[in-house]
Amino acid sequence: MVEIKVHEDRCHGCGNCVVACPVNARNSPNAWGGKGPEEDDVVIKVVNGVVKVVNEDLCEACLTCELACPVDAIEVRP
Ligand code: SF4
Ligand code: SF4
Repeated sequence: MVEIKVHEDRCHGCGNCVVACPVNARNSPNAWGGKGPEEDDVVIKVVNGVVKVVNEDLCEACLTCELACPVDAIEVRP
């Protein structure tokens, strides 16, 4: 079971991880348009300026979000 941990004290809600996540891109046309995804079948999205994990079970543990984050605020444990 994959575990996604967000360090809310570091996250500034830039959304890099949200648009980089391949599952988000597949499931949400808005995500790969560089806009905030509105669909609910995404793994992560920014809510009120902080990234939130919406569907951890959809995560494929590719670690792309970790690489995309400029402040090491998101961690994935496969
Ligand atoms: S590790 Fe999970 S949340 Fe992160 S980019 Fe990959 S599929 Fe998305
Ligand atoms: S976890 Fe990192 S990449 Fe994702 S929104 Fe927060 S600061 Fe940006």
